[in-house]
Amino acid sequence: MTELLYLRDAYLREFDATVIAVDGASVALDRTAFYPTGGGQPHDTGMLGTAAVVEVRKDGDDVWHRLEGPVPAPGDAVRGVVEWDRRHELMRTHTAMHVLCGVIWNAYGVPVTGGNMEPLSARMDFEFDPLPEGFGPRIEELVNAELRADRPIEVSFIPRSAAVLDRELIRTKVSLVPEHVAEVRVVDIVGLDKQADGGTHVRSTAEVGRFRVVKTESKGKGNKRIRIEVLDG
Ligand SMILES: [Zn+2]
Repeated sequence: MTELLYLRDAYLREFDATVIAVDGASVALDRTAFYPTGGGQPHDTGMLGTAAVVEVRKDGDDVWHRLEGPVPAPGDAVRGVVEWDRRHELMRTHTAMHVLCGVIWNAYGVPVTGGNMEPLSARMDFEFDPLPEGFGPRIEELVNAELRADRPIEVSFIPRSAAVLDRELIRTKVSLVPEHVAEVRVVDIVGLDKQADGGTHVRSTAEVGRFRVVKTESKGKGNKRIRIEVLDG
């Protein structure tokens, strides 16, 4: 089982770990700061010892790191270094998606149905039918106002039984968190958006930078797609 260090400290760039299993060019560690692909957020890259980490994926309770370079052996102590520029861009982008969700919920009462991101760009789907008049410019203005407001972003861990009763979490379908999960990680953009979430985020909305709507498109009835990008403040 791999301890997920990024859940408690998204700013951790370097860490020491022990190899618990090896499969070809992939190694599982007892702890990692590398984010594995999931929840719409792509995996981190970086270095493990002198090898490059080119893919990170979660399999059950283990995180596997696919390497290009020398592969360590089970029991070896290794040092991991996360490629920080890419990770921080993903943290900014991921946080921008939360702000977008909160703004759209507050302005229109419409939930998100899906999304995916790359560093500094993302798409998100919402249950609109049709898209409201002047939607793109209005959303861009509202999101940028929230970024400038520099809202703090707090991460906490609460019992599942408490999370399913939290009215602010209900719209993000916290009830879908599997029954066996005892504790839910909650990411709260204070006063704007609260979600049960395992991704990495920045500490305040101002750190995101600036937000731009690239385009909006219809993906069918009750499903409208928004493409966005994140720019330096
Ligand atoms: Zn998130």
